[in-house]
Amino acid sequence: MRALSYARAADTGTAIALVAGDREAAFLAGGTTEVDLARQQVLRPGLLVDINDLPLDGVEDQPDGGLRIGALARMSDVARAPAVLARFPVISQSLLLGASAQLRNMASMGGNLCQRVRCGYFRDVASPCNKRDPGSGCGAIDGMNRGHAILGVSGSCIATHPSDVAVALVALDAVVRTRGPGGERDIGIDDFFLLPGDTPDREHPLEHGELITAIDVPPAPVARRSVYLKFRDRQSYEFALASVAAAIRVEDGTVAEVRLALGGVGTKPWRARRAEAALLGQPAGQAGFTEAAEQELAQATARPQNAFKVELAQRAIVRALNTLTNGDAR
Ligand SMILES: Cc1cc2nc3c(=O)[nH]c(=O)nc-3n(C[C@H](O)[C@H](O)[C@H](O)COP(=O)(O)OP(=O)(O)OC[C@H]3O[C@@H](n4cnc5c(N)ncnc54)[C@H](O)[C@@H]3O)c2cc1C
Ligand code: SF4
Repeated sequence: MRALSYARAADTGTAIALVAGDREAAFLAGGTTEVDLARQQVLRPGLLVDINDLPLDGVEDQPDGGLRIGALARMSDVARAPAVLARFPVISQSLLLGASAQLRNMASMGGNLCQRVRCGYFRDVASPCNKRDPGSGCGAIDGMNRGHAILGVSGSCIATHPSDVAVALVALDAVVRTRGPGGERDIGIDDFFLLPGDTPDREHPLEHGELITAIDVPPAPVARRSVYLKFRDRQSYEFALASVAAAIRVEDGTVAEVRLALGGVGTKPWRARRAEAALLGQPAGQAGFTEAAEQELAQATARPQNAFKVELAQRAIVRALNTLTNGDAR
């Protein structure tokens, strides 16, 4: 039995100071990841600093047409916020396709970005896992890896990033705002998620005690017509085998602007930049969409159990683009 202390912070400065001052302390938001992992002894925090009293739960319109989403805004509140539904439907859809209604009511946006991987070896303390126990090896590379990543993998770790909304936020070039012992900073969301490389235990650039305060979504008129599609083993309460966040603007039959990101296939929420580059300026249609999807997945490193994800992700991209351009969900 390991002792676990609990403190409830009344203000942001206190929350940061409490965690920064104790190597074994962690923030506690909705608790839907942190408490699970502490119970399983995958994480062993000595002190949980509850941040739920901090005034960080708003969803605010910005003067430039963007949005500021507080780190403690609940997934369900963000999904139904009128500004999100009207201007960024891809955010709403990605949230509603994640977890369950009860979890979405508890789970915060900051916690969602910091949630840990669902790899079974990570969650089994008897198994080797470089992410949980650096240098111990990776149970998945030669083990059960049907759900694992095919993009951004390394010889140390092949776990997929599990968040759905992060995929939409990566497509929208969101910015993660933080405050820590060293002050405030803004981190572009694509830089917020680190590739595993040789250090899979380091998943994001946050320092110990650095708190996410908000997520800024810049204005993106293209996102008014956007979609999130998620493919999984069952239709609810399940993580993605592949997912896609897409937005596109077509002018005179040509792709004038496009945003694409993939989930369920990358070790981080995967901005599909190769596909975007292949699409821009080209005719909007099945042939171009298929070619772009194939170019993106050409960089995949698949294993026998998860090789099906290559075609699944390609088809997901094509279906999303068809859905947005002509309502055709082939
Ligand atoms: C059964 C189940 C199914 C799920 N299905 C999905 C799914 O399909 N799609 C999906 O996207 N997610 C899914 N999730 C994950 C869920 O969305 C996350 O657990 C949740 O978003 C985490 O938010 P939280 O507020 O509960 O975080 P917590 O559990 O409180 O915290 C999670 C981590 O984030 C840190 N943290 C929290 N807030 C901050 C902050 N402001 N700044 C810095 N660090 C912070 C904590 O210290 C901790 O390390 C599922 C979870 C469960 C249990
Ligand atoms: S894939 Fe990553 S999380 Fe899973 S066992 Fe290997 S190192 Fe650990």
